[in-house]
Amino acid sequence: MHTDNALRTIELIRCASKAASTYRTAQHAVRKAHDEQCAAQAQLNHWNDRLYAMGGPGRDSPEHAAHLAAAHGHQEAKQKLRKAEARLQRASAMLQAHRPALNRYPAERTRRRATTLLLDRLADHPVDLIRAADLIIIQTSAGKDSIVAMHRTVAAAKAAGCLHKVRAMHCDLGSAEWPGVRELARRQAEGYGIPFLVVTPDGGFLGMVENRQQWPDAKRRLCTSTLKRDPTGPVITTWVGELRLDRQAIVLNVMGVRGAESASRALKARLALDSRTTSANRLVLTWNIIHGLSEQEVWQEIASNGLEYHPIYDTGLPRLSCVYCVLAKPDWLILATRVCFALEMPLPETYAALERRIGHSFKQNFTLNDIIAAARMLDALDGPVTWRRGDALRTHLGPAAADQYLATTFTL
Ligand code: SF4
Repeated sequence: MHTDNALRTIELIRCASKAASTYRTAQHAVRKAHDEQCAAQAQLNHWNDRLYAMGGPGRDSPEHAAHLAAAHGHQEAKQKLRKAEARLQRASAMLQAHRPALNRYPAERTRRRATTLLLDRLADHPVDLIRAADLIIIQTSAGKDSIVAMHRTVAAAKAAGCLHKVRAMHCDLGSAEWPGVRELARRQAEGYGIPFLVVTPDGGFLGMVENRQQWPDAKRRLCTSTLKRDPTGPVITTWVGELRLDRQAIVLNVMGVRGAESASRALKARLALDSRTTSANRLVLTWNIIHGLSEQEVWQEIASNGLEYHPIYDTGLPRLSCVYCVLAKPDWLILATRVCFALEMPLPETYAALERRIGHSFKQNFTLNDIIAAARMLDALDGPVTWRRGDALRTHLGPAAADQYLATTFTL
């Protein structure tokens, strides 16, 4: 199927799903309005019966006040009934409007399967996909996966003659990150000649924890949603607006997510519809362009292409994330603390003080104080941690690959 047709079909299926969901909402609204109407009618009957039983007491009779109250209740019940009937009418009209369209759509499961199939085929042809797109955004953390994702995207965009469509975006989490991350992300993007934007969420990671008086965790990963995902929507809106298209824009949102990183990431597709960000004026597809690569392959691609990576990988830390990532294993957190000591960074104490202030421990089964104590103990036993430029490559690809990389590329 032609790429444009496939994208149009995906959009039609999305609209069908939206209509089906509106139909379900209308069904629910009809049921609710009907229940409200029954309740209002029962109330009205109740007050009718009371008024009938009371007859029409004279103004000076002792039952006069009770009669007035019953008449008031009767009036209110009548109004409620009128409102409930109007709501029922509106909901029924909405239901009727969507019923004929719904009959034309295939079942939800079939729609989902068709979308997955089409997206999978599109992912097999990156150059065609890029040609069909209006805007390609690379979300970069400056980490090893991001740089390889950027390299592959740029290569495909060049092959398609569409480098002008590519832009890079970096979310700066402030002092929670290792030094030099933002600058590296900028150098990487500018090295490819693509526009680069930094988004700085208010307060960064530490500000968010201070506000919520709570650390995020694997189940409530507010750090990723609030600090990384949420700022992306407005940026896409602005960039799509700048395109001034009179049709729906096709946006590719490139991420350096790999299936080998975790079980949940393994379940992600190479290309997926981003229903949250998609709207009538933009179809947004999340493109996990390096989803199938192993860690070894990522390092191989860095070495072969002389891509600049952050020196923190040389310390043995596997990810260029926040210094203290809420998802990291204790061993990584201890090593990160020892690296902070070696770099004379005040971050361990800043985090420990925040932990004490909010009274919520960094992880359920240990505190940052425990981590810092363990790091101090290991430093006392083994001395401070040391590393050399190229150690990450020595570990993953051997000394020869590291030497060649260092000989042909810059050193930080
Ligand atoms: S690196 Fe870890 S702590 Fe930082 S934003 Fe991502 S998940 Fe949250």
